[in-house]
Amino acid sequence: KESGKAKYNEQGNPITFISASFDITETKQLQQQKDDFIGIASHELKTPVTSIKAYAQVLERILTNKGDIKEAELMRKMDNQLNRLTSLIGDLLDVTKVNAGKLQYNHTHFDFNEMIRFVIEDLQRTTDSHEIIENLQEVGLAYTDKERVSQVVTNLITNAIKYSPDSKKIIVHTSVEEGNVIVCIEDFGIGIAQDKLNKVFEQFYRVSGSMQHTFPGLGLGLYISSEIIKREGGKIWVTSTEGQGSKFYFSIPLQLRNTY
Ligand code: ADP
Repeated sequence: KESGKAKYNEQGNPITFISASFDITETKQLQQQKDDFIGIASHELKTPVTSIKAYAQVLERILTNKGDIKEAELMRKMDNQLNRLTSLIGDLLDVTKVNAGKLQYNHTHFDFNEMIRFVIEDLQRTTDSHEIIENLQEVGLAYTDKERVSQVVTNLITNAIKYSPDSKKIIVHTSVEEGNVIVCIEDFGIGIAQDKLNKVFEQFYRVSGSMQHTFPGLGLGLYISSEIIKREGGKIWVTSTEGQGSKFYFSIPLQLRNTY
């Protein structure tokens, strides 16, 4: 209880300082073992899931060509669920890499809005329930990690879809300010309570309550996204009104600054 307290003499100068220290070696080792286990397990799960996905796609094509529409539709649903599984495994793999500081980066020049349109088209192809609308201002070329930034945009749009079961519209905005591109993913879904807003980017954090069963997930997507954006020298934040919807923003420098 006394730890961290200083005692002062009459002149106000400190005379003693009580402190306590703990050996955290064991805690660190356990954390490391846990991360190693998650890394190995997710790596092992990835290979069979990738094969099953390839078989499901072949079967879907065969069934479609044969005119077995109902069976082909089942295969398509199976493929969608396999996409979810692949993305969960990917998140587990990424989180161990992030925590070990081993996430690989690859910077290239690319057209920023073209990347956004590609992600939207890809997600719209597997989503009938929502309409993803573009509101893109001229951004031009970026020099950053295309794959990783696409991953963040995918995460944010996927969340926007998942957490707005009763509204159809999702809007993706881009703009440029002082050499930074600002991306905003706007949804009109369940929203987030004000006191939870700054927690959603924490590892394994999920807004608790009955919602957890309705919206399955691991609580890793936003943590990984925020680590990627930080490494790109940018910022990520959210504004939201419960019951009305959320706006997730990130901004990153269009040209890499010296952040490494
Ligand atoms: P997951 O979706 O797997 O739980 P995330 O890290 O992506 O993990 O999100 C963390 C939490 O933030 C979610 O559990 C949810 O409570 C909240 N959240 C994220 N995106 C939204 C959104 N668009 N609308 C409402 N809540 C959201």
